[in-house]
Amino acid sequence: MANSKRVIRGGRVIDPGQGIDRVADVLISGGKVVEVTEAPLDAAPEGHDVTDASGLVVAPGFIDLHTHLRDPGHEWKETIESGTQAAARGGFTTVCAMPNTDPCQDSAAVIEDVLRRAASDAAVRVLAIGAITKGRRGKALAPMGELADAGVIGFSDDGDPVSDANVMRQALSYTTALGLPIINHAEDHSLVRGGVMNEGPVATRLGLPPVPASAEAVMIARDIELAALTGGRLHVPHVSTAAGVELIRAAKQRGLNVTAEVTPHHLTLDETWVYGLHGEVPDAVPAAAYDTNTKVNPPLRSSADVAAVPEALADGTIDVVATDHAPHAATDKVCTYDEAAHGINVLETAFAQVMKLVHEKALSLPELISRLTAEPSRILGRELGTLKPEAPADIVLLDPEAEWTVSADDFVSLSRNTPLDGVTLKGRVVETVYAGATAWNAMAAEPSAK
Ligand SMILES: [Zn+2]
Repeated sequence: MANSKRVIRGGRVIDPGQGIDRVADVLISGGKVVEVTEAPLDAAPEGHDVTDASGLVVAPGFIDLHTHLRDPGHEWKETIESGTQAAARGGFTTVCAMPNTDPCQDSAAVIEDVLRRAASDAAVRVLAIGAITKGRRGKALAPMGELADAGVIGFSDDGDPVSDANVMRQALSYTTALGLPIINHAEDHSLVRGGVMNEGPVATRLGLPPVPASAEAVMIARDIELAALTGGRLHVPHVSTAAGVELIRAAKQRGLNVTAEVTPHHLTLDETWVYGLHGEVPDAVPAAAYDTNTKVNPPLRSSADVAAVPEALADGTIDVVATDHAPHAATDKVCTYDEAAHGINVLETAFAQVMKLVHEKALSLPELISRLTAEPSRILGRELGTLKPEAPADIVLLDPEAEWTVSADDFVSLSRNTPLDGVTLKGRVVETVYAGATAWNAMAAEPSAK
């Protein structure tokens, strides 16, 4: 058992929730934060382990509002244990598990099972999201009150939208009493019609059935009107289009109870990645094209969309970065683009992916960390993602300048489905501390890492 008393000394402490951005020491004891000291300590208090964090950033552990842990039911893709280990490697100390499991998380019994197993198996905190409708079939509401009592932090049929507007109206109405958001997968199925990638010149050239950007915007527009009608609480997941951003911006100006998230891939990768050349546009369609690891829902969008979402994240229209970590086995991806499963394995690369925005000065490092800590904490309404005294000692040590090359074979996730294999990223999680104990240490795991 590691010493429970520790000083993380001399790092640049960034805690956006408290407005802290300065070189300081962080004291932890008994799994909790004791304080962020103003004055540098000459010597560690007696009995404390000391970690030299000079040159590193020290921040609250990240919170992911959108994680597919695949457990129960699809344990060959991911488990609570492997998914939370991947989270720890990515700097996340809280993940919110999406309910499209088997059985799906539409009853208190399943939620309690997930939370009970997480308490013994998980490397970091697991919070659960309940289904909106029974069996995620979009017809009859799940027992939302019972799910709320079981501890869910919101409701979602993610993977599928609630297509029936009246069912969505009822679900949003319940949120006024329950105070928890409806997270509706924003996609109008009647516009998808078997489409597998973004509608545009790349889909045309590759001969793949397209999904228009308006499939997202139509659903977001409907949901915003229903939030206005009911006074309910709406959280829009994985916003991927400029049109979606404009609708959310307008909804916020109307004072509606609407929040939104964006994924690392929709912030940084556009539809040209489907060519399989890491964003290069070839003269002729290459052998690498139809890279099924780029197939995701919503699809990778146009370069104009990929320019619009970071702007919206910087100006607060989009509140948080959430991963939509969607692990899939090789058998789901080694097939045609049409047949491949939707989803990208994100947790272990997320921080380095979004650091691109900081390196390109689209937003500052404290702003980015806020979108991974203070903002998701506000949406959860829980005292997480902060280094306040008495908060759980959930802490990440980051090296924003360190470069590393993604190797899917090294993932601690059970799945390997990333389009970033072999890509060099800048920004590294050095250590993740969960409730005062080390959940990930890059030096120990990868001795060659600098
Ligand atoms: Zn979704």
